[in-house]
Amino acid sequence: MDPADKLSLDVFRNDQESHIIIRQEICSTCELKPCLSICPAGLYSVSEETGEILIEYTGCLECGSCRIACPSGALEWHYPRGGFGVQYRYG
Ligand code: SF4
Repeated sequence: MDPADKLSLDVFRNDQESHIIIRQEICSTCELKPCLSICPAGLYSVSEETGEILIEYTGCLECGSCRIACPSGALEWHYPRGGFGVQYRYG
C-alpha cells in the first residue's frame, strides 16, 4: 500500500487547543527553519501576511520530529490531551 494511502486511513480527533505552540519571538530569530521540511505531514508553513511560521496542528502525527529538529527551542510541544490526537490504522 502506498504511504499516502496508509496516512489517509488515520483518524484524527482534534482538541480545541493546539498541543504545539510556536514562540514567535524565538522562531523569528531562526534562519534554518527546519520545521518547514522535517514534518512528514507538511504541517508547517509561512504566513504570507506576517512571515511567521504557522502550524496546522490538527493533522499532527505526533512523531515529535519538529520538536527535536527545532534548533532554537521555539516550540512548546506536548502530546494532545487524552482522547484527542491521531489514531493510527494498520500500523
Ligand atoms: Fe509534524 Fe511530527 Fe511535528 Fe506533528 S510532531 S507537527 S507530524 S513533525
